[in-house]
Amino acid sequence: MENQAEQHFLLHLAPFEGESISHYLGRWFRKETVNISNSFSLAKKLRLGKTLYRWERFYFNPPPDQEELEKMSGLMGVEIERLRAMFPSEAEPIKPTPIRMCAACYAEAPYHRMAWQFKAMTGCETHRLRLLSSCPSTGCNQPFPIPSQWIRGSCEHCGMKFSSMAKHQKPC
Ligand SMILES: [Zn+2]
Ligand SMILES: [Zn+2]
Repeated sequence: MENQAEQHFLLHLAPFEGESISHYLGRWFRKETVNISNSFSLAKKLRLGKTLYRWERFYFNPPPDQEELEKMSGLMGVEIERLRAMFPSEAEPIKPTPIRMCAACYAEAPYHRMAWQFKAMTGCETHRLRLLSSCPSTGCNQPFPIPSQWIRGSCEHCGMKFSSMAKHQKPC
């Protein structure tokens, strides 16, 4: 019992407000005390098959079920409700690609928001800016990687920082 509590403490990582499950998984894998390097190893450990692969890519059909969430919650030490909050509601249509971003939001808090992949989401309401769906640097246009792979927070092709991309967002 004590061991389990200690493990939960070591593996626990608090999700950010509105953070997408893909981004959260990436942060969790890179946490020092987590000795699991990617979704394949974790899926194998928890016998989750292709589930995590789908979640990282925003394929939520079928949606996460109770058993999957319980397995994750048990290992990661995050309450089921907090895990569930990183998924869209089942009524919310999702656009898995392209990966989108409000760079102004990212500059304030560097993580991918689940709401950016909502089909209905055309722009950021806070900043009144349209979302970016690829690198806006002149001549680059590189698509953003899936958020679990957002490590440096910059374009993999030209190196432009996500946090400096807001000036290229058009008003909406
Ligand atoms: Zn924004
Ligand atoms: Zn670029």
